[in-house]
Amino acid sequence: MKTYNIAVIPGDGIGPEIVSTALQVLQKIADTENFELTLTEYNAGAKTYQAVGDALPPDTMTACRSADAIFKGPTGLPEVRLPDGTEAGVLGGRLRRGLDLYVNLRPVKLYPNVPTALANRKPGEIDWVMVRENTEGLYASRDNGIVANTDQAATDTLMVTRLGTERIVRYAFEEARRRNGKKKVTCVDKSNVLRSLAFFRRIFTEVAENYPDIETDFMYVDAAAQALVLEPDRFDVMVTENLFGDILSDLGGATIGGVGVCAGANIGDHAAYFEPIHGSAPNIAGKGIANPLSAILSLGLMLNYLGEAGAGQRIETAVETAFIQGTIILKPDGSAQSGTQAVAEAVLAQL
Ligand code: NAD
Repeated sequence: MKTYNIAVIPGDGIGPEIVSTALQVLQKIADTENFELTLTEYNAGAKTYQAVGDALPPDTMTACRSADAIFKGPTGLPEVRLPDGTEAGVLGGRLRRGLDLYVNLRPVKLYPNVPTALANRKPGEIDWVMVRENTEGLYASRDNGIVANTDQAATDTLMVTRLGTERIVRYAFEEARRRNGKKKVTCVDKSNVLRSLAFFRRIFTEVAENYPDIETDFMYVDAAAQALVLEPDRFDVMVTENLFGDILSDLGGATIGGVGVCAGANIGDHAAYFEPIHGSAPNIAGKGIANPLSAILSLGLMLNYLGEAGAGQRIETAVETAFIQGTIILKPDGSAQSGTQAVAEAVLAQL
């Protein structure tokens, strides 16, 4: 029987609550499938920074490098900052660049009976996936921005490379082939203004020539923001720059019951980690109302990555059925009506 070694980072704020809740679902799946799991917890994030002066201690990074996959809760607390004014507990850059996880895959799907902020939208009409470039773009400037010594200005630089763009665009087209969707990839950029993003679009067009079976579509990021609200059924796979992808996937989340429904995968050629798309939500931490579906569905993506697609599908189907049967109820603000644990129990009951 296969055994998968999973490094678990509970994180900050609501992280530990939703991670432990989601792991109940993973354990139940493992009990009934033909694989075993070794789950080991590691410290990382804002609280870890406060305790040991490093948000990603070396033993955590070493474990992440050798694990079959990493399951991570959100990290970071707004009040825990570095001297340069940025947050100390945000790990995305170090994990994504350190492990070269160039894909950030974020499905946006409206489940039945979920209160959506968009009137008259039904399940099936919002079902697309964000393929966000994850290692360059504007966030490549992380830790490297320049604050002029006059203290009057600061700059960050947006980086687009041929290699980075070719591989993310290829991933997007392959994802469109894998998905049972519209077989369409939308390139979202700002190529009307920025040379870096005109370059991104040029490479997109080159790569697209290898995928004649997939439709292509182009939008500027400002227009895409409107389209996600007015015509979300236009999208199947969206590929875009790092910062744009970060912002637009939260906007997508708002259309499907909140970011608490949104799972994420950070994937490279040799490693991957799985986490909700949202942050540590300090405003609701400890109240028992965080929606854990983002973490539960992230485990579904993790199982797909590990080659256990059947088990991954069981999670998604269990969530969908629980919504249909009304055993998961979300409030319009995205919180879980009967609490975090009740959502897990509704999913467990379907399994
Ligand atoms: P956030 O995503 O934590 O919260 C935004 C809003 O969404 C809040 O109202 C929150 O209550 C709500 N929300 C988030 N997750 C929810 C859930 N599962 N169920 C119900 N409601 C939920 O964004 P923020 O407040 O801007 O950031 C808080 C902290 O998280 C910051 O320190 C930030 O840097 C960090 N952060 C971490 C990650 C990550 O670890 N991947 C991502 C984004 C932000």
